[in-house]
Amino acid sequence: MPILVMKFGGTSVATLDRIRRAAKRVGREVAGGYDVIVIVSAMSGETNKLVGYVEETSPLFDAREYDAVVSSGENVTAGLMALTLQEMDVSARSWQGWQVPLKTNSAHASARIEEIPTGNILAKFGEGMKVAVVAGFQGIGDDGRITTLGRGGSDTTAVAFAASFKAERCDIFTDVDGVYTTDPRICGKARKLDKIAFEEMLELASLGAKVLQTRSVELAMRYNVKLRVLSSFEEHNDEAGTLVCAEEDNMESKAVAGVAYSKDEAKVTLISVADRPGVSAAIFGPLADAGVNVDMIVQNISEEGRTDMTFSCPTNQVKRAEKAVNDAKARGEINFHGLVADTEVCKVSIVGIGMRSHAGVAARMFQALRDENINIKVITTSEIKVSVLIDRKYMELAVQALHDAFELEKG
Ligand code: ADP
Ligand code: ASP
Ligand code: MG
Repeated sequence: MPILVMKFGGTSVATLDRIRRAAKRVGREVAGGYDVIVIVSAMSGETNKLVGYVEETSPLFDAREYDAVVSSGENVTAGLMALTLQEMDVSARSWQGWQVPLKTNSAHASARIEEIPTGNILAKFGEGMKVAVVAGFQGIGDDGRITTLGRGGSDTTAVAFAASFKAERCDIFTDVDGVYTTDPRICGKARKLDKIAFEEMLELASLGAKVLQTRSVELAMRYNVKLRVLSSFEEHNDEAGTLVCAEEDNMESKAVAGVAYSKDEAKVTLISVADRPGVSAAIFGPLADAGVNVDMIVQNISEEGRTDMTFSCPTNQVKRAEKAVNDAKARGEINFHGLVADTEVCKVSIVGIGMRSHAGVAARMFQALRDENINIKVITTSEIKVSVLIDRKYMELAVQALHDAFELEKG
């Protein structure tokens, strides 16, 4: 039998009623002749609640215990989905990550998938079972403990299953009907794309577009998984949603394909650092060792041999970052006169393969922000994106202004 992977995100399994709706949709694919692997997220809000419990209990938590707690939301929905299917006379059972087993490394809270043996589930399909419901987001580490794949990780579970089982398609059911030029929740003019190239989706995801986890896009690109994003709330045909696929000649040739934002940014400045060879290594080595994901970096012009060093990192890693550099200072490895953390910033980015061949894209972006009187704090660029760090209060305004400036509402 051909295999389909269907992933339902948090809002699509938020209530028993919605689980029934999702199960009906799965039932239709089974009736159409497929064996189905269903990947479920936790009910919406559950994972946030569990993360909150962990952070309140232990601010610099042990990531192994974090995983033990936050993986539990998916266990509930996997069991409920299997029960719902059984009630509909569809033969189904649930699997937790470790039972598959979905094997990962032991980088707790952001583990990477290493292997998904297919034997257990294929044997059950062979015995006539029609649906394997798998708890998304979780696996078992090479340290023998439960791991999670980072926020939004059920998308990655789904694509990894589609690759391992050579599924005909991987459908990601969510609360919007596809990938848009920007988040439709903050920009009314956002336009749904019928197709988007893997590379653009990869950048949009890594720059904050929550609709797919970055790693899921990476895997889909590597294993050429047919990946589709669509709404779990609407009925649709085979052409619905957005297909994430390899770049094609007939794709839109605009310089900019989309605008992404990330609220989860903080800017940390080390004031008056000695400007000498090795200083960056001395700062960013300890930060890496402490597991801080540094994103943007700027070093100011130095005066009298001293300079300011600014970097950005996720908001919830600021405490870790402060501890890491203060410890390095105490050990005499770096010296700075002060540390300023600004957690009221955000990152806004424009993405497009077309930037490779269009000149002046960054200048147009900066002009659009200037027209709104928005001050840019840090800039980074790559071949197909430009990102700026700005005050968080201007985030929506900036996204809308850039969407207008690059005329993304037009097809
Ligand atoms: P799920 O719980 O189904 O995994 P997520 O909340 O993780 O859903 O992702 C879907 C959300 O992603 C949408 O509700 C939307 O607000 C947000 N989003 C951000 N950028 C985009 C975009 N470019 N296109 C579509 N949705 C986007
Ligand atoms: N429940 C997890 C989260 O909220 C994983 C997921 O939904 O993809 O991040
Ligand atoms: Mg998600």
